[in-house]
Amino acid sequence: MKICRFNNDRVGIVDGDGVIDVTDLFDRQQAWPVPPGDTIIRQIDGLKDKLRAALASDQARTPLSSVRLESPVANPSKIVGAPINYKAHIEEANADSEISHGHVYTSLDQYGLFLKANTSLIGVADEVEIRFADRRTDHEVELAVVIGREARMVTKEEALDYVLGYAVGLDMTVRGKEFPTFRKSVDTYCVLGPWIITTDDVADPNALELTLTVNGESRQSSNTSKLIFNVQRLIEYASSFYTLYPGDVIMTGTPDGVGPVEPGDVMDAEVAGVAKIQVRVAAGYAAAVRS
Ligand code: MN
Repeated sequence: MKICRFNNDRVGIVDGDGVIDVTDLFDRQQAWPVPPGDTIIRQIDGLKDKLRAALASDQARTPLSSVRLESPVANPSKIVGAPINYKAHIEEANADSEISHGHVYTSLDQYGLFLKANTSLIGVADEVEIRFADRRTDHEVELAVVIGREARMVTKEEALDYVLGYAVGLDMTVRGKEFPTFRKSVDTYCVLGPWIITTDDVADPNALELTLTVNGESRQSSNTSKLIFNVQRLIEYASSFYTLYPGDVIMTGTPDGVGPVEPGDVMDAEVAGVAKIQVRVAAGYAAAVRS
């Protein structure tokens, strides 16, 4: 099942080239304080039978091509990133001073994970807005894992029980000396979408081809089988430090081939079996807005 958010916070199930609006199945009245995590994602497990019934029904479909696809998670409590999780990316980073900036990358368990600010999150219908004309902004295509229920200190053997599904992620990055959590948290620098495909439709998250092109030119091509910490181990590792909540996103890391994008570029990314996405880089640099 493919779950999306579209047209100003409608919740949908994607069926072929159509979208079924299932928003009214969800309780959207929130008590204060809101519990950590995303209130819609938290409800999906308990609504799966009703969602499947909607999929099997003759309820009207809106053409997918006519809807605006927003980030399938509206309010994660956190977006977790894995900085060096493919051997070939570690090698290219250490060989390129514009990526490594004096660091020598060794292994993930020496560097740990980072967090991207939730406010960096956009959907595939939005545009990445490059913030700085004088600094390099790179693309990183990644398999994104969306957590479905609270996960605290879980083992890798049980880790997939806590996953709702998967999406395509772009971990856009300003290169430089600062902490990754700062450089990767610029507004619009986390693309997620186009939908969440639930775990029952993905046989093995650690065996998925992933590719990215910029303006049709191949940049990244790899397979999640090359993850150093695979999906289960990443969940075990992340949840050993902090509780993961429904809607939390784990960006599993990027393979080699990272490189800069410029205003007006078009990125096409695919995680086979999850989705293909096309995301535009805005024609101009991000403009300051003051009110
Ligand atoms: Mn990354």
